[in-house]
Amino acid sequence: MGRLDDKICLITGAARGQGAAEAELFAAEGGTVWLADVLDAEGETTASRVGGTYRHLDVADEAGWQQLVDEILNRDGQIDVLVNNAGIFRSNRMLDTPLNEFDLVMNINCKGVFLGMRTVAGPMREAGSGSIVNISSLAGMQGAAGAFAYGTSKWAVRGMTKTAAVELARRGIRVNSIHPGLIATEMADQLPGGVERMQRGIPLGRSATADEVARLALFLASDESSYSTGSEFIVDGGLNAV
Ligand code: NAP
Repeated sequence: MGRLDDKICLITGAARGQGAAEAELFAAEGGTVWLADVLDAEGETTASRVGGTYRHLDVADEAGWQQLVDEILNRDGQIDVLVNNAGIFRSNRMLDTPLNEFDLVMNINCKGVFLGMRTVAGPMREAGSGSIVNISSLAGMQGAAGAFAYGTSKWAVRGMTKTAAVELARRGIRVNSIHPGLIATEMADQLPGGVERMQRGIPLGRSATADEVARLALFLASDESSYSTGSEFIVDGGLNAV
């Protein structure tokens, strides 16, 4: 028996990195997996590898969300899990952050999460159950010097998670956030100062694989986390404890 048997799951930013690892694990645990991204060729390849369905979705596109969720409901009848994973990273200190960079990061990392939660909450409410997992960051737990817009967006994800969790709890919908530290994906290669330098400060002494985050997302997506909502789950090799 799989841990996500009979669950219909949608994962954004699933063409590669953590989203792809989540798609693979969720499918292996019996979930029906929909993968969304803007990287269409990579998304199609990942979907056929894991046995899921790929669709193009820019998470900042309100109409795109509705269209995709309608398609999921038409084909599969319900939506049980949403992982709001898509995100972009930009490195600039606050004084050097151009307005268009701030707007872009907030549009994808913050508005994208809001639109996702709002779109799936309707059908989840009707079903009386659902789990939403929002991927924030350790940058949403601490000051993120050198990545002002990114850090701001990830604190917003943390805040939205708590408010939505309280608003939706009586409807049977759980909402939690994951706060990864340094995860070995293409995004980590963009970190100022490089991965090598950052790894040295991590108590466990290394970055995580995408699968190490996916296993936490699986717990939150499944009924095993039935009493967790509005909570922050850190997966960072001890970095936040320093
Ligand atoms: P990744 O490999 O860059 O994957 C992110 C995926 O999201 C990419 O395929 C990306 O495509 C896609 N995406 C970007 N904008 C999108 C949009 N508007 N609509 C739909 N998809 C979009 O990075 P990752 O490490 O797996 O990141 C996953 C999540 O973890 C992100 O929210 C990130 O902020 C968070 N996180 C990562 C780390 C880390 O160390 N890697 C640490 C903490 C938190 P493009 O190539 O077009 O951008």
